[in-house]
Amino acid sequence: MKILVLPGDGIGKEVTASAIEVLKTLVPDLELDYGLIGGSAYDETGSPLPKETIEKIKKSDAVLLGAVGGNKWDKLDHTLRPEAGLLGLRSHMQVFANLRPVKIFKSLIGSSTLKEDVIEGVDLMIVRELTGGLYFGKPKGIETKGAIKRGFNTLEYTTPEIERVAKIAFDLAQKRNKKLCSVDKANVLESSRLWRETVEEVAKAYPDVELSHMYVDNCAMQLIRNPKQFDVILTENMFGDILSDEASMITGSLGMLPSGSLGEGKGLYEPVHGSAPDIAGTGKANPIGAILSAAMMLKYSFNKADEAARIEQAVDKVLSRGIRTPDMTAGAKEVVGTEAMTKHIIDEVKKK
Ligand code: NAD
Repeated sequence: MKILVLPGDGIGKEVTASAIEVLKTLVPDLELDYGLIGGSAYDETGSPLPKETIEKIKKSDAVLLGAVGGNKWDKLDHTLRPEAGLLGLRSHMQVFANLRPVKIFKSLIGSSTLKEDVIEGVDLMIVRELTGGLYFGKPKGIETKGAIKRGFNTLEYTTPEIERVAKIAFDLAQKRNKKLCSVDKANVLESSRLWRETVEEVAKAYPDVELSHMYVDNCAMQLIRNPKQFDVILTENMFGDILSDEASMITGSLGMLPSGSLGEGKGLYEPVHGSAPDIAGTGKANPIGAILSAAMMLKYSFNKADEAARIEQAVDKVLSRGIRTPDMTAGAKEVVGTEAMTKHIIDEVKKK
């Protein structure tokens, strides 16, 4: 099992170190390699995604990423900014399906801004298309005509792009509660009309999965009104970007949330949060999002669902004892830093 670790910037370095410590406890044959990405890669090599990193991906089975970005690099040309490294990585690895589980840990119910009866038992999975749509469509740019500037992007999807991500979502729904809600804006957008038609076609191969469609504006509302109605949500890139951040708040803290991105080749796993420059280096970062991302890696890239479940249960146990990092202090009995939280989780994993 060869993993390429890309710690990135800010707390990315701290939380990936935690995730690797937890993995080492469970996987004896773990082989690790490390590479550069983001602002730290730019500082060392002049590129946010150096060639050496691309080479290292070829030799690995899966990639674990921390986070990229920071004020220091905000003024660079957009092609050199840390985020360009991240988009380049996703595009290079052709990880077109981003999986974001939103599951509420019982002990964290008090940390959410939503009412307990609304969120208790929420367990949904957002599948976001990751390598197409508005973020990648061409033409794009800002042009100047006389005194007027025009900014433009292109929103387009092809049937193969929709089919491949839909299949991943249907496969997941089949293993879960067999419900899939496809989210679009088919009342206004042509790309959404094709999205809906294509998802309907893919659904024919999954008669046991109940398919529904929802407009994105309604979905934004339903996620807050009654998130328990959802099992798997499938949507395009930009809608998924927005809806998954909204859904993340159901669970209380951004620092808790993992993600995995799948394609036809290797998987890319990363916590949902950014590099948190405001707390980087203070030892306060919540490592759970990264640790749960490592658990997703075990499950989806290495078929080790039991080991993944052990990590999830260990996190649950530690949280139920009232141990918390400073980003989620509601109901805390003991507030600890990154290292101590990691150690508590490792101790629980070892107990099983
Ligand atoms: P952020 O996620 O880094 O931080 C938002 C807030 O949440 C901050 O107050 C931060 O302290 C807190 N937070 C985030 N993760 C935490 C954790 N694990 N534990 C405790 N607290 C945590 O988002 P931002 O502040 O908007 O962005 C900071 C930088 O990160 C920017 O450069 C941005 O572009 C980048 N970013 C990168 C990614 C990524 O690499 N995938 C994602 C989002 C933002």
